[in-house]
Amino acid sequence: MNNRVHQGHFARKRFGQNFLNDSYIIDSIVSAIQPKKDQVIVEIGPGLGALTEPVGEKVDAMTVIELDRDLAARLKTHPFLGPKLTIFQQDAMSFDFAAYAREKGQLLRVFGNLPYNISTPLMFHLFSYAGAIQDMHFMLQKEVVNRLVAGPGSKAYGRLSVMAQYYCQIIPVLEVPPESFTPAPKVDSAVVRLIPHATQAHPVKDIRKLSHITATAFGQRRKTLRNSLSNLFSASALDAMNINATLRAENLSVVQYCQLANWLSAHPTPGE
Ligand code: SAM
Repeated sequence: MNNRVHQGHFARKRFGQNFLNDSYIIDSIVSAIQPKKDQVIVEIGPGLGALTEPVGEKVDAMTVIELDRDLAARLKTHPFLGPKLTIFQQDAMSFDFAAYAREKGQLLRVFGNLPYNISTPLMFHLFSYAGAIQDMHFMLQKEVVNRLVAGPGSKAYGRLSVMAQYYCQIIPVLEVPPESFTPAPKVDSAVVRLIPHATQAHPVKDIRKLSHITATAFGQRRKTLRNSLSNLFSASALDAMNINATLRAENLSVVQYCQLANWLSAHPTPGE
């Protein structure tokens, strides 16, 4: 049998289609999500409904965003799910989660077995709507989950760790082997829960500054901060913030990156 065909659908590589086929894993994910009636549940990439069906059994209504026109059409005529679903046949990268939360008058609970080719930009898109989201559960490459939860000093700690931890509390939920999908991906996967912070302990005035500093520092992670950040901070500025200029990007905490971002906001360079 062609292993790219699942339930009569030919899996499209360009849409990152790897369908869950493992009922133990599916049950574990649904238990982790704990969907409840009266919540606004949004699934990204429902595909053939592996997660949509068991979640849909627990609620009266849910919303799905699916880019693949054939799969969206299949869901529309699904025997028991069809009437419960609000289907957006579109790219989740262009979905306005804040407008949807406003329309529903509630924070959103978002989940999905994400297409791995766009999972990082999609998470950044969702972080920009963190204030409209109650929580998120995502299946990702295990290596991405490792980066999300990594702390200072570890090899996996990078820009994604700092940005994600700035927005959310991050809790790994479960590891998933390649055989749990059809077709099987080449990498291990894992499910993670992300809970946007209700209040920011160390808010930054301008998130673009945090984004820029982390990109600059981790873009040259082998260099000392004195060198990697020399275009943004003088040695005396780092000193004034009690940041040791001989450290490297991976040694700074999220709080210290926030401190750097706010210093830049308070000291705009001429022309900004
Ligand atoms: N949820 C299903 C499952 O667990 O078996 C399918 C998961 S599959 C890894 C990813 C799904 O996301 C596919 O159905 C794919 O068509 C859809 N998808 C891919 N890119 C998308 C995008 N930009 N926006 C929304 N859905 C997308």
